[in-house]
Amino acid sequence: MAVFLVIVCILMAERRSVVYEKTERLLEFLDPSVFQEEEFVKEPECLIVWDSADSNSVKARREIASVLAQMRIPFEEQDGREEPALSPAYDNYVLALSDYSVLGEGILDLFDWVEDGSNLLVMCPPYVDAYYQVVSGRMGIQDTGHEPFELDKIVFKTGFMVGGMGQTLEVSDPFDSSNRIFLDQDCRVHLTGGGEEEYPVLWEHPYGQGNVVCVNLNIYEKAYRGFYAAAYSLLSDVCVYPVINGAAFYLDDFPSPVPAGEGSYIKRDYNMDIERFYTNVWWPDMSNLAKEHGIRYTSMVIENYSDEHQLPLAGNQDTQRFLYFGNEVLNQGGEIGFHGYNHMPLVLENFDYGDAFESYYPWKSEDDIRGAMTELKNFCSELYPREAFQVYVPPSNILSEEGRRILAEDFLDIQAVASIYFEGAHGYSQDFMVSEDGIVETPRITSGLLIDSYMRTAALSELNFHYVNSHFLHPDDALDEDRGAALGWQNLYTNLSAYMEWLYNFAPEIRRLVGTEMAGAVERYYFLDTLIEKREGEIEIRLSNFQDEAWLFARVKEGYVSSVQGGSAVRVADGLYLVQASEDTVRLILE
Ligand SMILES: [Zn+2]
Repeated sequence: MAVFLVIVCILMAERRSVVYEKTERLLEFLDPSVFQEEEFVKEPECLIVWDSADSNSVKARREIASVLAQMRIPFEEQDGREEPALSPAYDNYVLALSDYSVLGEGILDLFDWVEDGSNLLVMCPPYVDAYYQVVSGRMGIQDTGHEPFELDKIVFKTGFMVGGMGQTLEVSDPFDSSNRIFLDQDCRVHLTGGGEEEYPVLWEHPYGQGNVVCVNLNIYEKAYRGFYAAAYSLLSDVCVYPVINGAAFYLDDFPSPVPAGEGSYIKRDYNMDIERFYTNVWWPDMSNLAKEHGIRYTSMVIENYSDEHQLPLAGNQDTQRFLYFGNEVLNQGGEIGFHGYNHMPLVLENFDYGDAFESYYPWKSEDDIRGAMTELKNFCSELYPREAFQVYVPPSNILSEEGRRILAEDFLDIQAVASIYFEGAHGYSQDFMVSEDGIVETPRITSGLLIDSYMRTAALSELNFHYVNSHFLHPDDALDEDRGAALGWQNLYTNLSAYMEWLYNFAPEIRRLVGTEMAGAVERYYFLDTLIEKREGEIEIRLSNFQDEAWLFARVKEGYVSSVQGGSAVRVADGLYLVQASEDTVRLILE
């Protein structure tokens, strides 16, 4: 009888489809005001040498400065063009310039210091001139061709980066970027180009007491930051830096009314209408993928697809789909967030779309934006009474200053804005950080179902820079020709599935997070500072602004981590450990 009653209850719960308990979050969001500790006072460890007269060097400097700042490596910068004389005071140097004549004889001094125990990251392919010829042997270079070559592939020769072992990445928009290098035998080559030549792209060369790491990529973009972080980490015996440790998948425009769109490929492959396709094919497939990999989706609601942009608003009375899909997501431990009352970005008439987004109308006033967000909030609160709605995803990743301010001031439940990592013409692009107004910026790095070479590069890069993955997709990707609809859902699904396989195969330890948990992970990462002390046989890591947990990468070049005090560690790539700190001081014991 009891068993029977249980079955009846389960069936009823399932029928009603609204009964669920609020899921405990894996990681609670903390009020940003709890992070009160100061950063450590640290001596600069590194000098970035750059050349203000060379636009390429300017870009290289911008990238490496951003990378080192986020790795919490204390550094200084020097414009070699203005001030060519270098100081021997640093452990590490980054040559973020190509023209060594700028430094004159100083380049020889630099290599003398390396011989005596400093380390050098050569970040830009050097010009092949007399100064270069004098020092190239000290980088492990035997010979250099006169013409550069077009680097169209990056081939991983070692497993020094997470997600790299055995992989080949296509370089999007390749150009004559890199030097034709022939190396000495004693170099350790981690990356090469493709083809028969396999010119070296990233290698290490011991020189005297020091170490030289050279990068022959010549690409200075956000999508490659993880490559430079990894290269820098190879310089000294030990390198430790904070990471986020999280993977999130966002379903934009879901739940939403069935979007308008060409259903011809769905008709072709499944002989059904869009609505039935979503219910019977798309969602079951997405749901299975989630189960397979332990993913909990963050699902972004659109109430309707009207072009209203002024109060009063019509709302949406047709809630059946919202209840069904929303509760499916919640029952799997997922999260519901705000995407929009409709798909009009939160911008006013002063916002310039240029020639793009012809169907978008700006909102008439700030009060209309407030009204639209309030309507969405009421709509969602009715449907999902236990949800807090802490994540906002801007429609088309567009968000104006005014819209952003209204979210922060009037919608206090919103803790995170999840827009986009890369710069675009109109997009609200972000870094992983906490803004002054307390909102956590949790950008999405990759998107869609096509997963092109640029996305694969960016995804791999970010695994190594922040140990993070953040991807969004839409149900209507399968309808949109630009997003690959002609390939058919089965092929698109196979793409996405292969991407997840790659991710969780190479990063099985990465935490599966929903949007609010990602915000919690980012704030703990963002406020953290590290003070590293290297002793015989151990590394002591002191953490400022430690609350309940912190995550770090530790690159250990000699030996291995045999035990950890104040935390734990797991190897995630050759010589690279993911360290979980459970106290504000962690000791890695080295063997
Ligand atoms: Zn959308």
